[in-house]
Amino acid sequence: MFQVNDNFQKLPGSYLFSTIAKKVNAFSSANPDKKIIRLGIGDVTQPLAPAIIEALHKAVDEMGNAETFHGYAPDLGYDFLRNAIVKNDYQDRGCDIQADEIFVSDGAKSDSADIQELFAADTKIAVCDPVYPVYVDANVMAGRTGTYNPDTQMWSNVIYMPCTKENNFVPEFPKETPDVIYLCLPNNPTGTTITKSQLQEWVDYANKVGALIIYDGAYEAYISEDDVAHSIYECEGARTCAIELKSFSKNAGFTGVRLGYTVVPKDLKRGEASLNAMWARRHGTKFNGAPYIVQRAGEAVYSEAGKAQLKEQVAYYMKNASTIKQGLQDAGYTVFGGVNAPYIWLKTPENMNSWEFFDYLLENANVVGTPGSGFGPSGEGYFRLTAFGTYENTVAALDRIKSL
Ligand SMILES: *Cc1c(COP(=O)(O)O)cnc(C)c1O
Repeated sequence: MFQVNDNFQKLPGSYLFSTIAKKVNAFSSANPDKKIIRLGIGDVTQPLAPAIIEALHKAVDEMGNAETFHGYAPDLGYDFLRNAIVKNDYQDRGCDIQADEIFVSDGAKSDSADIQELFAADTKIAVCDPVYPVYVDANVMAGRTGTYNPDTQMWSNVIYMPCTKENNFVPEFPKETPDVIYLCLPNNPTGTTITKSQLQEWVDYANKVGALIIYDGAYEAYISEDDVAHSIYECEGARTCAIELKSFSKNAGFTGVRLGYTVVPKDLKRGEASLNAMWARRHGTKFNGAPYIVQRAGEAVYSEAGKAQLKEQVAYYMKNASTIKQGLQDAGYTVFGGVNAPYIWLKTPENMNSWEFFDYLLENANVVGTPGSGFGPSGEGYFRLTAFGTYENTVAALDRIKSL
């Protein structure tokens, strides 16, 4: 008789976005005349840039012609894309990363979930709290996290690093030494980040204790401040302790196109085992490559026209971010983020909890956001608004909030 992987039974239900949808649906059926503005989900709204559309059309035409047709892509990605990534994202920034350390994939969510296949079964992971839920849940499915305590909302075998206004959202080195540390910077959900010298301290710490850092750089394109690293490999020593995950979803609007990559430096070793060789083996066995058409679209992200158009797209969202941030500040809120990331993290007023504020905002301003408590216990009392809406909706939402 077959048995299931019992670890799945340990997962608490992820009610966050389904609860939000239920509440919004109930409100709109009771109030059909009210126009709801959604600043909740972290998905982009702007169309693909013209340079990307052009590259897609061209690649589609190539697929319709026997001479230029492409079948299976190379497991690790086409050279044209890996070379463009290495040049633009690493070598131009002074980072020592080579094309054979880049693994092209269909996005950072799957890589951030799958990378734990490289870790030993008894690996102890550390995560920021609040956190993007994928890192912990993937380790739960692999049986690594111990038992869940519904009261504390914590797993017995996971190290949590609270990131709150008390520590300025900078994770502190945990008391217990972790084997693997997940860092997402600039951060989803808090929209905050740390300076390059603070990141260097994490790299030094990881090298000292022999830990591996999984560095999620999905929001790198939104960095506006000079003292923030665009890659962990800007830090000295990162080649021996860090894997970097990148996505084309947030910088180029590829959420529905699907493309990402993972950097595994060849200096990353444990004994005789090379993590680069292991990830290559894993990729070759379990993944058959991102589509040719999509990789050509990814290449266009690095063209002169593509870069210029995407800079504008990021600026469009960041104008929304400053509209939200300024508007909330004017209305007397305490706000964080929104400078190096398209998320604004606000402290709920008058000691409302995250869900109370959700209801208050929905009912009185008809604006939907995301309760901070959905991202971890330290998110309680906070609330996330995203800058991924249209400018018009963002302005309208803030006008409503200001007049509450
Ligand atoms: C959006 C996001 C990603 C990107 O996921 P894709 O699968 O590439 O779309 C990765 N990490 C975080 C924290 C994100 O918010």
